[in-house]
Amino acid sequence: MFEDVNDFETAFRRLLDEVLEFDLSNPFDEVDKILCIEPHPDDCVIGMGGTIRKLTEAGKDVVYLCLTDGSMGTTDENVSAHELALIRKREEEESARMLGVDRIIWLGYKDTELPYTVEARNQIIKVIRREKPDAVLAPDPWLPYEAHPDHVTAGRLALEAVSFSPLPNVVPSDVQLGIKPHQVEVFGFYYTAKPNYFVDITDVMELKLKAVRAHRSQFTDDVWEQWEPFLRTIALYYGKKAGTKYAEGLRFMPGLFLHITPFAELI
Ligand SMILES: [Zn+2]
Repeated sequence: MFEDVNDFETAFRRLLDEVLEFDLSNPFDEVDKILCIEPHPDDCVIGMGGTIRKLTEAGKDVVYLCLTDGSMGTTDENVSAHELALIRKREEEESARMLGVDRIIWLGYKDTELPYTVEARNQIIKVIRREKPDAVLAPDPWLPYEAHPDHVTAGRLALEAVSFSPLPNVVPSDVQLGIKPHQVEVFGFYYTAKPNYFVDITDVMELKLKAVRAHRSQFTDDVWEQWEPFLRTIALYYGKKAGTKYAEGLRFMPGLFLHITPFAELI
């Protein structure tokens, strides 16, 4: 049916609309369970806390997967890494509850040293196979100028895990234990410079900021003096693109475009 198509623009549109049926009008429409993958115990709320609140309000199940222990996130010489990891776990539980999230899975890798390894990828595959989410969200690893290696690594590992979790010959020991292959239907990025979907968070912005602030070890009064204006500016930036006051920007991708695609950025 495509042999009569002679130009790329028509092919691209028809590929998305008719062949892949890729619909950006509401990517969460047929989604009941969302796995939000975060490098550190505050990234889900900072990146998409308003969206998460809206999803749980709509009765959807949101689970966090936190990859590292957050133990390096301090300039206080009197707090040990072990103590900080415990503090941050409690803060994350409180923050998540404020957004209607009551389950957090911790992989416990050392903060700042999230390894880009097959072992780490396979841990995420196991979680995806056990949890069977309809949608997975993770940081966009191609955010320009992102300096934190855990963020880049988390995005790449998540992308690979979503790609490989349906393949039974990948980590066959999972399958032998009854942890069956699982196809994630919807994959998206938060912390993205190329959003293609926006959530109006104007009415939950103050709650989002409170849930960010629940990470008290991260946002002392001094730090918050910069971070509150910073987070409002980001929400206004996405809001300007969305035509609302405050918004969060996400980037959804059809699975087929997550491999060998020279025009994936056009979506
Ligand atoms: Zn982080």
